[in-house]
Amino acid sequence: MKDKYNREISYMRLSVTDRCNFRCKYCMPGDSPFLKKLLTFDELYDICSVAVDLGVKKIRLTGGEPLIRDGIIDFCERVKSISGLEELTITTNGSLLQKYAYDLKNAGVSRVNISLDTLNSERFYKLTETNMLQDVLNGINTSIDAGLDIKINVVLIGGFNIDEIKDFVELTKFNELHIRFIELMPIGASKRLYESCFVSAEKVLQLAPELKRTSFDGVAEVYKIQGYVGCIGLIRPLSNMFCDVCNRIRVTSDGKLKTCLHKSDEYDLRGLSKDGLAIKIKEAILNKPSGHKLTTTCFSESSRFMNQIGG
Ligand code: SAM
Ligand code: SF4
Repeated sequence: MKDKYNREISYMRLSVTDRCNFRCKYCMPGDSPFLKKLLTFDELYDICSVAVDLGVKKIRLTGGEPLIRDGIIDFCERVKSISGLEELTITTNGSLLQKYAYDLKNAGVSRVNISLDTLNSERFYKLTETNMLQDVLNGINTSIDAGLDIKINVVLIGGFNIDEIKDFVELTKFNELHIRFIELMPIGASKRLYESCFVSAEKVLQLAPELKRTSFDGVAEVYKIQGYVGCIGLIRPLSNMFCDVCNRIRVTSDGKLKTCLHKSDEYDLRGLSKDGLAIKIKEAILNKPSGHKLTTTCFSESSRFMNQIGG
């Protein structure tokens, strides 16, 4: 289905929980509020099924940490079997991939985006309040063995991981990895860190000038160093807004549909019949705003934390 700006809405990000086993400082620090009542898997499934009827071709499951919700593998299998859905992917912190990578693959998940902001175990602890760096690294290897397509997402955080940019780039020398550097967005917990922590993705090109741009995949500018087998992506939600080609809607784990990550408008899907869902989702898509106005001084209008919406 198209919105009023003629954008074909074909991609839905569905948060299955706002809970997480990490406490990343920029996303859900220790004092973050939890949502009161999550949708059941049956309710989430109905939303997926109606969204696919309306033209959604790709669904990404996210959270919070999607893999901590009991029943997630069965849910993936059910969603993947919806006729008309072409791709099911998941965004995860990677800590449970050792356990679930093969199950995800068998359930029909084609790709996992794994978040990994540092390769240093002390820093990892400081950022996430867990000691699970090795679990994440093992999870990456298990996902590769299981035949999942993977992308690794690194949020650029000033004063924290900028000196590791080169190390991440060097990982693409012998490994066929797609590593994407993402600019920190001024939303939720990040709003209070922003002034001291925002670093433009341009920094990556300054520190690794051998990177040569090869393409743009709709969200990330893709770069490579000649002779390296992997590639690097730069995602610049601020400096390089992609609102005019935005094909997404998002649903929070308490059933609120958002047509823009950074706007406060939400459409409540809880308790609706399938017909009711179709009416509400169509209404939301038709009213999808043309874009957001995020800058380093103009913060997200949404009052939600990222773990409640899903990245
Ligand atoms: N727990 C999973 C994970 O960490 O991948 C999925 C949910 S998490 C909210 C999804 C993505 O959002 C992660 O890659 C995380 O780094 C990113 N994220 C959270 N807050 C962000 C912010 N303020 N700016 C940019 N990315 C952010
Ligand atoms: Fe959890 Fe992901 Fe947020 Fe980190 S970024 S706290 S892993 S939801």
